[in-house]
Order: sequence, then structure tokens, then C-alpha cells
Amino acid sequence: MDKFILIGPQGSGKGTQSQMICQDFDCVHISIGDIFRWNLANHTKLAARVTRIMNEGRLVPDEIVEEVVRKRLEEHDWNYGFVLDGFPRTRSQAEYLFEGWNLDRAIYLEIPDEVVYERVATRVAQGQAQGFTKRADDNPEALKMRLKEYYEKTMPLLDLFERKNMLLRINAYRAIPDVYADIRKGLGLGEPRKKAPAA
Ligand code: AMP
Repeated sequence: MDKFILIGPQGSGKGTQSQMICQDFDCVHISIGDIFRWNLANHTKLAARVTRIMNEGRLVPDEIVEEVVRKRLEEHDWNYGFVLDGFPRTRSQAEYLFEGWNLDRAIYLEIPDEVVYERVATRVAQGQAQGFTKRADDNPEALKMRLKEYYEKTMPLLDLFERKNMLLRINAYRAIPDVYADIRKGLGLGEPRKKAPAA
């Protein structure tokens, strides 16, 4: 079973690369951000607890995220494994994951700091020019806060993954297919699996 996690700053292509891996290798793509956004759209009880935090670009408290992840992983709905996109983002979350799951690799999508800032600035400018954005957390303050949270709480996890010999560093400041080719090579994934026909 393949159990991968993908980490990287906003705009590093986590969602895109997770989807590509899952499509070719028949894994389940688990995006914690998507699960939260689904809750927001459906006005669930969970949404009432996290909407403000998310819209401000802050990280949702660990115990809430860990509960969401626990429930999601309990579904065991994969054939070959899963790709966790956007989890863990803090030390507590990483420890939580290590306790219950034997992970294979942590894929780190690396892009230069100045490019991260440039992309954030572009999104801010676009948002201001259009007067609306797709995501409530794409406003200037939230974008900056998300970046701050990333550098303060998520970046330090790289050391942890490195010490566990599970970190795969990928230069993600390149064309999408090139990044993907490197990930496949780094993970030793070989040729795409044929998907089992739907029952
Ligand atoms: P994302 O789409 O991955 O950027 O996530 C959107 C938002 O959901 C983040 O800015 C956080 O508010 C929340 N979120 C997603 N994953 C986590 C996590 N692992 N820990 C805390 N908050 C999270």
C-alpha cells in the first residue's frame, strides 16, 4: 500500500500533483482543505467552528483537524493507498499521523521563497482588480497569514521527515509534467496501474 503526504507552500501545485498521482496509481486523494470547504458550502456544524479561522487564513486547531483526518482515514476506501494533501501541517498533526500510520514518503514541493511571495502578491492584485475571488481565504490578509502559518508551523516538519529518512525534495518551480516525472521517479512508481473497472 502506498501512503504519501504532500507538503509545500500555497501555489506549489500540491492539489494538481496529488491528483495526477492518484489518477495513474489508483490512490485516493485526500485534501483536508477540500473537506473543510465542503463543510463550509454545506453549512455543517463543523463549518460553524472553522469558517472564521479559515477565512482569516489561520490553521484550524489540531484537535479539530485530527478528528476530521481520523474519520476520513477510517473509511479505508482505497485500493492501493492514499495521498494526503495538506496534512500534517503542525508537529502535533505529524505525531498523530505517525502513531497510527506507517507512511512511505513525504513529498516536499519546493519553490523559491521569492516566487511564493510573488505568486501571493499576484493573487492579491488579481483579487483587488476583480473585486472577488474564488476562495474566501484569497484576500490579502488571509494570504499573508497562510504564508506565515506555513513558514512558522509547517516548514519545521521537513527536519522531522528528513530524520525519518522519508523526505523527497522536488524542485516544483518547473512545468507541471516535469515536476510529476520527478515525483514518479523519486517514488519509484514505475508505469501507471490500470484502474480496476467500476463495479
Ligand atoms: P488548503 O486548501 O490546503 O490551503 O486549506 C485551506 C484552509 O483549511 C487552510 O488555510 C486552513 O485554514 C485549513 N486547513 C487545511 N488543512 C489544515 C491542516 N492540516 N491544519 C490546520 N488547518 C488546515
